[in-house]
Amino acid sequence: MGLKACKKCKRLVKGSKCPVCKDAKLIEAWKGKVIIINAEKSLIAKKLNISEAGEYAIRI
Ligand SMILES: [Zn+2]
Repeated sequence: MGLKACKKCKRLVKGSKCPVCKDAKLIEAWKGKVIIINAEKSLIAKKLNISEAGEYAIRI
């Protein structure tokens, strides 16, 4: 599928490192994803400590 999950922020990224954390620790074996459109209003975002819109892995 090409997307990997950042171990730190759980963001799904293409390529070899997270553009937010500048971290190369990516996990290929993530399960399930959530798309956050409005992080401020999203209960899921709050639960996962996400403050920015984007695609995130829910189980890594
Ligand atoms: Zn990250």
